[in-house]
Amino acid sequence: MQTNLADWARVSELGQEADEILRRCVHCGFCQATCPTYQVLGDELDSPRGRIYLIKELLEGQEPTQATQMHLDRCLTCRNCETTCPSGVEYGHLIDIGRKIVEEKVPRPLSQRLQRALLRKGLNSPLFAPAYKVGQAVRGLLPASLQKKVVEARPTGVRPDTRHHVKQVLLLTGCVQPTMMPTIDSATIRVLDRLGIGTQVAQGGGCCGALNFHLDDQDAARVQMRLNIDAWLPLIEAGKIEAIVMNASGCGAMVVEYAHHLRHDAAYAAKAQKVVALVRDIAEVVAPHAQALAAQLDTTRLPKRPAFHPPCTLQHWQGLRPLSEDLFVKLGLALQPFTETHLCCGSAGAYSVLQPEISTALRDRKLSQLNAAKPDLVLSSNIGCIGHLQSGTEIAVRHWIEVVDAALL
Ligand code: SF4
Ligand code: SF4
Repeated sequence: MQTNLADWARVSELGQEADEILRRCVHCGFCQATCPTYQVLGDELDSPRGRIYLIKELLEGQEPTQATQMHLDRCLTCRNCETTCPSGVEYGHLIDIGRKIVEEKVPRPLSQRLQRALLRKGLNSPLFAPAYKVGQAVRGLLPASLQKKVVEARPTGVRPDTRHHVKQVLLLTGCVQPTMMPTIDSATIRVLDRLGIGTQVAQGGGCCGALNFHLDDQDAARVQMRLNIDAWLPLIEAGKIEAIVMNASGCGAMVVEYAHHLRHDAAYAAKAQKVVALVRDIAEVVAPHAQALAAQLDTTRLPKRPAFHPPCTLQHWQGLRPLSEDLFVKLGLALQPFTETHLCCGSAGAYSVLQPEISTALRDRKLSQLNAAKPDLVLSSNIGCIGHLQSGTEIAVRHWIEVVDAALL
């Protein structure tokens, strides 16, 4: 794609980076076929190619409007288009740049600013946990729409003391997971313990930064990234941990890109690279021990017909779907095939709150594909997808590590 950047874009780092990405696009449109928003809305401007044009026009000097912002907002940042693109267009990085520039030029209506600020501050606040627990306690009394957003409390079981293991890893538990689904972290700690791996719970900025980053506050996200790096790097440099484990693929996808997000930060760019080098999804940590773990499972306690929904942050961002599915099969999980496995379920962080119609349409589309496989349980790798899918089905949706933990002999 030929570009003719405006002067301000030509001299800015972001403008130059965006230009390099734009030039790789050959307008072929292959990405349209796998874009969930284009599938649902059928509007070129809600497709990757359409959004790429909008960002190109922006960099060439056209003033963005609220309509530009709306089309960029509607993108789920699922990166399905990146997986499909034959030219290697890094759409994910391009939309980050486009959104940042539009955010600076187009003031949002007050209602949107309030909603986004409430989500950013609320989910990152120490008050989130007590408020959510109250919600769980009165869940049965809540209106149906709200009830679906509050996950039923489940017992977490005992977390073993694993400090004696020679091999130690750091676990990022994130901002909302310890409150909404603490069972995932407990299961992770128990399964790793069986493999002779001790788990230390990470301190730092709490959140990986994804929440702020995708809610118009990239600077606040970078503050959280630096806090995390400051907390984790001393453990790495002292040789106290061998990996930083992610059991939410949404957080993992963010943290593996810390070096990219801090590339212009002279004080943190190299530190971020050291951290990123040790980041592993829980499936990557367990995979080398698949055989040993399988021997410790009571297979009669595994679901008979599980279906696996691979989150976009696992399959399109991190390319870890084949590794994960291979692991599950080795552990004795007979995965049931279904169609459109590449499509987003509509969760996408805060997207289900900000774009409820598109999000619900995608969720229901995903559930109808899943239902066709008649699963007795739906597995996934990310808290957001798990909660979102669960809000539309009676079939249990669980993180795969919980299912493996429940089958431990
Ligand atoms: S990231 Fe997903 S929603 Fe956004 S343009 Fe690409 S395929 Fe479409
Ligand atoms: S598939 Fe890639 S090259 Fe083709 S239009 Fe989409 S982004 Fe551009």
